[in-house]
This record gives sequence, C-alpha cells and structure tokens, in this order.
Amino acid sequence: MFNNLSEKLDKALHVLKGHGNITEVNVAETLKEVRRALLDADVNFKIAKDFTNRVKEKALGANVLTTLQPGQLMVKIVKDELTELMGGDAEGINLSGNPSVILMSGLQGSGKTTFSGKLANYLKNKKTKKPLLVACDVYRPAAIDQLHVVGDQIGVEVFSDRGNNDPVAISQAGIAHAKANGHNVVIIDTAGRLAVDEAMMTEISNIHKAIQPQETLFVVDSMTGQDAVNTAKAFNDILNFDGVILTKLDGDTRGGAAISIKSVVDKPIKFIGTGEKMEAIDVFYPARMADRILG
Ligand code: GDP
Repeated sequence: MFNNLSEKLDKALHVLKGHGNITEVNVAETLKEVRRALLDADVNFKIAKDFTNRVKEKALGANVLTTLQPGQLMVKIVKDELTELMGGDAEGINLSGNPSVILMSGLQGSGKTTFSGKLANYLKNKKTKKPLLVACDVYRPAAIDQLHVVGDQIGVEVFSDRGNNDPVAISQAGIAHAKANGHNVVIIDTAGRLAVDEAMMTEISNIHKAIQPQETLFVVDSMTGQDAVNTAKAFNDILNFDGVILTKLDGDTRGGAAISIKSVVDKPIKFIGTGEKMEAIDVFYPARMADRILG
C-alpha cells in the first residue's frame, strides 16, 4: 500500500533521519521533496503546498534547528501533519437507530456492493447486530443478483423486489421488513452510474430524504486518484454524507485520494477496502496510516 509514496518520503526525509548535518538549507530542500512526493502521489497542488507550509511553520515555531534531535522532531512534525490531513482521530459509524439505516452512495464500480457485504459481515461478527441488506439498483438485475450472492456468502438476508422500479419504495419496504423481522441494521445498496449525472443525484437524494439514514457513506475507488476527490465533492454537495469508504487500497494506488479527501470535503474516511474478499475491510486509523506511509 502506497509503496511508491513511502519510498519517496523516506528518501526526502533521509537527511533528517540522522544522516548528515541539518541546516536551514536542507530543511527547505527536504520540504520541497516532500511536496514533490505528495504531488507524485496525486495529491492536489494546493493541498500539498499548504501541507509543506504548515510543516515549515511548525518547525519554525518549535525552533527545530536548536533542538537536540532536529531530524527526529521534523519527521514527527511531518507525521503529525499527515495524520491531521487524513482525518485526525478515527471515527466510527453511527448505529444509534433501531434499526440503524446506512445508505451507500457512489459511482458504479466503486465497490459499493462489495463493501455493503463487507460491512454487513463486519457488523454481524459483532454478535449484537443483525443486519439486512437491501438491493436498490433497479437498472441492473445483475446488481441485485450480485448482492444476493454476497448475502448468501456471509449468511445475511437480502431484501429485493425485482418487479419494482422505484428505489425509494424499495428502500422503505426494506426498512419495514427489517423492523418486522428483528434486524437492527439496514444497509441500503443503491445504483451508481459511471459518472456523476443529474438523474443519479436526484435519485439518491430522493432516497436520502425519504429514509433519513443515520449514516450516509460515500464509497470511492482509491485508484481513481484526483477524480476520487472531485466525485466526493459532487456527492457531498448533494448528500452532505457522514463518511467516506476508500476501496481498492490493496491495488497499485498512489494514495492521493486517501490523503486529500478529508481536506476537500471535511468528512472522515471511516473504512478502507483492501481486497475482493468479504474479510478485506479495515477501520481507517489516520495515525496508523501515517505511520505506515512514513515507515
Ligand atoms: P459497485 O458497482 O459500486 O457496487 O462495485 P462492486 O462492489 O461491484 O465492485 C466493483 C469491482 O471492484 C468488483 O470486481 C469487486 O470485486 C472489486 N472490488 C471492490 N472492492 C475492492 C477492494 O477493496 N479491492 C479490490 N482489489 N477489488 C475490489
């Protein structure tokens, strides 16, 4: 995960990690390289620039050059800033309702259906949760089949209504079914298009208004780089979602989405997907990710 970025940052911080004299000149040079590494990882220009400016300010504020171990302090400042950029403290999902309704949103292919299954499985394993999956993609019968396959695989019931082409009605019927059958979590998988379009936005917005979920999650493919950030912005403008799910972090992603999304939409990344299997789900901990990236 993020091997390329890790390597580049490691190289950039090499001098500070105790090799050679630390001077104002090589601190400046280091920050330039840090910025370059972030840009190469597909982090937006302004975010990368603000990032290195903040690191510089903090370093000046802490008078790093006069401290006993300036290199280590600089590395710590970079790590803290990276953690902050990715979201600070980890945040859970709101499961306060009975049932708690979780609405999934995102483009087609982002990994919504897979993640809906992973989340249902994750919650089911918590023992106190009995999830229900609801299939609301009325355009692609294959999507409904896919959710049934996932549900069978993890032993979670799937609610669908193939004759019905109204996703609002299906989601409401799903919630009623959950209430009548003792499910305390409802995960609603919705249709996604290949690009943001008005019809899709209106549809998801109508579902959102009708069911008022406790939690609205936006699922995005981390491989899509800066596009991930633009899509997140478009969905957030309509849904004011609660959290982001970053999928396909197991792939050859450069990591820019993970680093940029929080500062663009100001919503936390809550989970990450790290593979196609139902177990490939992790809670996102910004500090751990920063540790991993900076080695
Ligand atoms: P949806 O259209 O948003 O419902 O997306 P799907 O759940 O159908 O996922 C699209 C493709 O991405 C499928 O082939 C999934 O197996 C794959 N996929 C989903 N999540 C992950 C992940 O975290 N890692 C990898 N490698 N593949 C994933």
